[in-house]
This record gives sequence, C-alpha cells and structure tokens, in this order.
Amino acid sequence: MAFPTKAKYVIIGAGIHGLSTAWHLAEKIKKNGNGSNNDIVVIDKGGIASGASGIACGVVRNNYFQPAMRELMAHSVKVWESDPKTFHYHQIGYMQISPESMRKDVTSIYEQQKAIGYESTFIEGEKDSMKYMKGMLDDWQAKDITSVLHEKRGGYANNTAAIYGLADKAEAAGVKIITGTKVTGFKRGSNSKAVTGVETSKGTIDCEQVVVGAGPWVKTFWDMLDLPNKITIKDKNGILHKDNPMWIYWFLTEGVLGVDPNFQKTNDGKMPPVIHVDSDAPLHSCEDGSLITDKMWGIYYKPDFNFNGIQGGASPYKVNKSANEVNVDPYGIDSPEFQTTDEFAHMWCSALAHCQKRFEGQIKNYHAGPSGGLGCFTPDAFPIFDRFCENVYIIADSNHGYKMLGVGELVADEMLGKERDLLKPFRFNRYEKGKLHPTSSSPFPWS
Ligand SMILES: Cc1cc2nc3c(=O)[nH]c(=O)nc-3n(C[C@H](O)[C@H](O)[C@H](O)COP(=O)(O)OP(=O)(O)OC[C@H]3O[C@@H](n4cnc5c(N)ncnc54)[C@H](O)[C@@H]3O)c2cc1C
Repeated sequence: MAFPTKAKYVIIGAGIHGLSTAWHLAEKIKKNGNGSNNDIVVIDKGGIASGASGIACGVVRNNYFQPAMRELMAHSVKVWESDPKTFHYHQIGYMQISPESMRKDVTSIYEQQKAIGYESTFIEGEKDSMKYMKGMLDDWQAKDITSVLHEKRGGYANNTAAIYGLADKAEAAGVKIITGTKVTGFKRGSNSKAVTGVETSKGTIDCEQVVVGAGPWVKTFWDMLDLPNKITIKDKNGILHKDNPMWIYWFLTEGVLGVDPNFQKTNDGKMPPVIHVDSDAPLHSCEDGSLITDKMWGIYYKPDFNFNGIQGGASPYKVNKSANEVNVDPYGIDSPEFQTTDEFAHMWCSALAHCQKRFEGQIKNYHAGPSGGLGCFTPDAFPIFDRFCENVYIIADSNHGYKMLGVGELVADEMLGKERDLLKPFRFNRYEKGKLHPTSSSPFPWS
C-alpha cells in the first residue's frame, strides 16, 4: 500500500479508542452515504495494541459513582455485548465488595444502576455479605465487608485479542491502518488554528479532521497543539484554583499468580465474576503475619486463561514527577523505570489470601517479571472528550478506557456533526465552569 498523502480523517493511535472511532466512522459513513468510507487512515508508531490497550487487565465494569460515567459505561457494555466472539469478551460479571465507609456510595451506585436498567444485585450487612460470598466461593474469608454489589453484565476481555478483533472490523469497513509510522507534528492553516495535515516519519498526510487516541502519550499531542499545561479549576464552592498541572501520570500495578485459572472456580464449577475488594481491615503478610497496612487498601482479580493464571492488581501510585519529566517510552514491560515490585507481589498475594483461603501459601507461584504500565490522568481523573483547534478531536480517557469500547461510536457521530449527550459531561471547559464530577470514597482514582 502506497503511503497516503491525503485522507479526510486521520486517526492517531491503534488502541481501543482510535480503532473503535475508525470502525464506527467508516460504518456510519457507509450507512449514511455522506462521503467515502475509504478516506480514514489510522496511524500508529508501533503496532496494533502496542499501547495501554495491549497490556490492560481488560476489566469491563459499571460501578461508577458518577452518573455520567455510569451511563457512558452502560453504552460501552452494549458494544462489547454486540460481538463477544470477535471482542474476546467474557461476560462473567463484576463484584464491588466494600467496607462500611463505602456503603453509602455503593448503595447510590446500585440505586442508579437500577434506574438505568443495568442489572445488578446488592447485598448489605456483614452477615449477609459473607453468606452471599460463601454461597459462591466457599473459602471466602475477607473481614469487615458490609456490602456486595454484583453486576451481572460486564466482566473482562482478552486485551490484545480484542483490539485485533476491532482492527479487523475497522479494515473490513474500509479503514487503512498504517503501523510503524510516528506522528511528529501538525501542519497548520495560515488563517486559523486548524490542522491541515499530519506530519509523520514517512511524510505528511493532508487531512480535514484529526482524532488523537494516544492513551498515555496524549501529552505529546497536547504539547504539539500548544494547549495549556497548567489550568484553572473552579471548585463546587465557586473558588478558582490556578496553576493545576494538566496531566498527571500514575503507575498501574498489576500481576499474575501462576496457577491454573480453574483454581478459582465457584462452588458450582463456574468461572466467578471479576472480584474487586476495597477494605479497611488490617492487611497482614501472607508470609510472616506482619502488618502490611491498617489503612484503606484495594485489589481486583480474575481467573484469566490469556494470562495463564489469576490476573489482577492493586491501587495505582502517583508518579512523583512533573509530567514533562516522565518517560513514557519505552512503554509497558519494556520500561526500565516503571515496573511492579516485590512489594506489590507481597501486598497483592497477601490480600488474595485475606479474601480467600485457597490463596494462602500461593505467593510462591507469583509470576516474577515486568508488569503494569503508566496511565496519563486528567486533573480530576475523568476523561476529556472534546474538539480542540477547530478540527482535532482528543480522546483522553484518563486511563479508564479499555472498557469504553463505545466511546468511538459517540465520537464518530460528533465528527460527523451530531453532538452526543453522553459525551457532554466530559468537555474540557468543565474545569473553568466548575462542572466537575462527584468524587467517591474509593481508594482508586477512577471509581
Ligand atoms: C496496566 C494497565 C491496566 C489497565 N487495565 C484496565 C482495565 O482493566 N479496564 C479498563 O477499562 N482500562 C484499563 N486500563 C486503561 C486502558 O488500558 C487505557 O485507558 C486505554 O487502553 C487507552 O486506550 P487508547 O486507545 O487511548 O490508547 P493506547 O491503547 O495506549 O493506544 C495509543 C496508541 O498511540 C500510539 N502512539 C503514541 N504516540 C504516537 C505517535 N507519536 N505517533 C503514532 N502513534 C503514536 C501508541 O503506539 C499506541 O498504540 C489499564 C491500563 C494499564 C496501563
């Protein structure tokens, strides 16, 4: 295929967002007959799924405290459900298991899930929570749990396989995917801020609209577009806070316990839902009984044949550097700087044993080796979906986004001039307008 010098739409990034946008855009253009579906090019400096989408845990869930996030997720779950085979999607459900300090928040999540028809069961009280969990996994033993929200939809997808499935759909719809090509800059018009071409390591592609779906690399493009690295935020009392850093990196700690995934079957021999436990019960070492923490902690885990074991993670940590100093490349398991440590393995395996007896003594099976990855977060840790410089649409999911397979469908509509209500709460101007999302008492920055 000759390198294109022109395309109506150039989409940067062959991860979940770039490819979902490309696929939906091509399908919509084909359906509406308003242009050529062969005029969409996806560019990636690596390959398909070479960013965060290729290393994600792949969990798809809806337990968000923020109404706008919850509705957005419900929309995305429908897209996952539309073709589970191609998306390698396992609808095993998801459980949010919480202590008393989170009960009020989770109750409100359950109430609002009911209101939007998203199927879930909610169990309250310590005794009933224990009974519910033991009814599913008879070795359940986590202490001080007073609520269980069991989402019947959601689950997880095999990270890379799902993105390849998405790429197949995009190509079948007419999209050209060009890998091994780095975007190096933008060509700008003389009379406006609009971008008229995308400069790459293989030449410039003149275009009418650009989508940036660059995951942890979003800041590179933000800088190329001369967008501000410090912003003012109005809080809920109307007070202005100046000079907030626009981008903050967090490191996602994840790992794999190398046991047969069947090890985690339920009492009736099925695969259990993805389990997420937040707890304020003291966490003790599974090796010597010493106290690891008496502060709030959280973990998630699932049996996963793709990872060949029990895969999951714990709360991420903030990278203590200005975003300008963070080396995103080399990314993921190739990063010399950002990897999970023995400390993570010890905490996570101890927490697994805290929750289920079958994990006691299993730390010896932890897969040592590189894992986890960087995520680039917005100032409030919620996504930004918005147009900048007239014709550049930025999808900055604040590292929530593997599950957001449906965002591309919504963005494609906005590219074609139809504004979508589900995206409106995620505009950039929410910071200056003080229209922020409510925050929860979860220890994770994305709940
Ligand atoms: C360890 C980990 C676990 C996670 N687990 C989950 C989870 O369970 N559930 C969930 O919902 N989310 C999860 N996330 C978050 C999720 O993976 C991301 O939010 C999502 O994948 C981002 O998708 P994207 O398409 O925006 O970016 P990416 O998948 O990162 O794709 C961006 C692409 O842009 C390309 N690119 C970058 N710069 C250039 C350039 N200059 N020129 C050309 N191409 C370029 C990259 O090569 C890359 O392929 C996790 C993240 C991490 C790190």
